[in-house]
Amino acid sequence: MIYLDHAATTPIPAAVADEMYRVLTQQFGNPSSQYPMGQEARKMVEGCRTVIAAALGCQSSELHFTSCGTESDNWAILSALWHNRHVGKHIITTTVEHSAVLETCRALEAQGYEVTYLKPDKTGHITARQVGDALREDTAVVSVMLVNNETGCVFPLAEIAALLKERRSRALLHTDAVQGFMKVPCAPKALGVDMMSISAHKIGGPKGIGALYVGGSIRNIRPLLHGGGQEAGTRSGTEATAQIAGFAKAVELRAEGLTDKLAHMAEIKAYCREKLLAIDGVVAVGQGEAPHILMVSLVGYPSANVVTELGAQGICLSAGSACHRGKLSHVVTALGLDKRTAGGVLRISFGPETDFSDIDGLCAALLQHKNTRFPML
Ligand code: PLP
Repeated sequence: MIYLDHAATTPIPAAVADEMYRVLTQQFGNPSSQYPMGQEARKMVEGCRTVIAAALGCQSSELHFTSCGTESDNWAILSALWHNRHVGKHIITTTVEHSAVLETCRALEAQGYEVTYLKPDKTGHITARQVGDALREDTAVVSVMLVNNETGCVFPLAEIAALLKERRSRALLHTDAVQGFMKVPCAPKALGVDMMSISAHKIGGPKGIGALYVGGSIRNIRPLLHGGGQEAGTRSGTEATAQIAGFAKAVELRAEGLTDKLAHMAEIKAYCREKLLAIDGVVAVGQGEAPHILMVSLVGYPSANVVTELGAQGICLSAGSACHRGKLSHVVTALGLDKRTAGGVLRISFGPETDFSDIDGLCAALLQHKNTRFPML
């Protein structure tokens, strides 16, 4: 198998699976229990929190476990709005956010909030100036992702944070860093963001566990889930101890030689780009800087067909969400491509495990597809 869909999810290293198995079978206590096995589980959870917080350069008290990146995004926006309920009901975001943010904003619009959706330019980028132009007295939240999951474009969060400060805005700044965590510089304090969402399964951890960073200056986080008062009262529900252990182990493993791993991914991406663009009819789409995501189009060849046929050959890549139920993804639509380019969009994404031979295999299969299939008109 050739796995080139690391932006969708990542393989789990054996050490992560082993650690999860150990916790499931040997350290299965409830962290809220008073007896030693429960207290051991509590200690383990707090140790994991420290490991992940260290990777973000924040205090462990600022990191709250959630069930996924989607929950983190929902919670961040809802709790930021509640925190700033006296500021106003205006939200700024972008048209190319993950649906976890976009659908939250759409639901809020139905409840009377007003949302400004910033559009990217043809390269896929958003500028701090666009945020500045949209900013109002009553802007309560700005939510802009760190790395776009389809184009790999990195958005200027530090500049946006500086702008909000300069304009003395009371808006809270949230970033969905699910694709940015351990791929690009991502420390929330260095970026100047108030809230940050991350997810384990994009970095070699298990699905079903994420976290939300909430800066220490924000007191009274509004709980999304009410109940037993776990996560210092902010997010009730018995801690998913094995998932948390897997998350922390994945962070530890990724952190070992991270600079070399990122350099390797960037090299693979450059190699892949060069080889793909040498195929007649393949064009680059967007100008994403993240080391792990490349977007191209095999112009005129419907990406759903390409992805299905390559999948049958054991090559996994994605159409972005380009042909989601026969419709173009909102990201591809936002780039304003012509129909044949938009229809042929492919997202190839890499991890530390990706090898140059994987790229050779992909290019050979794509060339074969192109030579044996008719393009759409
Ligand atoms: N945000 C971005 C940018 C993503 O790429 C994803 C997952 O694809 C999510 C949020 C959702 O994360 P999760 O799958 O953990 O809910």
